[in-house]
Amino acid sequence: MAEETRRRAEFSRIGGHPVLDLINTVQWRLSESRRGDDLHEDDDVIRWAQQSELITDGEAGGLRKLAAHSPAAASEELARVRGLREAVYDVLFTNADPRVVLEEYRDAIADADLARHEDEWGWDLPVDLALPRRRIALSALDLLTRASLAELGQCQDAECGWVFLDTSARKDRRWCVSSDCGNRNRVREYYARERRLRSAKQS
Ligand SMILES: [Zn+2]
Repeated sequence: MAEETRRRAEFSRIGGHPVLDLINTVQWRLSESRRGDDLHEDDDVIRWAQQSELITDGEAGGLRKLAAHSPAAASEELARVRGLREAVYDVLFTNADPRVVLEEYRDAIADADLARHEDEWGWDLPVDLALPRRRIALSALDLLTRASLAELGQCQDAECGWVFLDTSARKDRRWCVSSDCGNRNRVREYYARERRLRSAKQS
């Protein structure tokens, strides 16, 4: 897998669900030569979770201090978050066994308290380096058990691999971003059609 080393300032949020956005931290998932990972260093996990609003700014600050004190534990969390991300992708898009996701969920609630926050109940989790992964696991179970699988979509570009919840009325979303993969493929289809027409005329 070719790793890109540049740091992404803004992570993509086109998925319609934080866990689908997490899956989309892999660039060109379906291409062996172009594939790259936006979760490249420990801090990327914290920045991603903060931008996705799975952790607060205050929690992110606390996690950065913990990561500075325990770099080995922070690296291990990076690996586990990437592992959980791939496990969720495999369950949703290749029908793999959900066991890994379920184990991460059980781990997440093992140290959690159920508490009432204003008008809803939620999990109170300890603020340690595992916090982003645990919030991801809770969110993943929510997606797996509540989202309509009929709404799950994957960009039809041959290499992109980005995923999304298709909430369009006709359920006909084809592209991650219409102005990006959509345009590129429409141009490609146009020229392929022109070529076919030209060769049909010549024969
Ligand atoms: Zn795409």
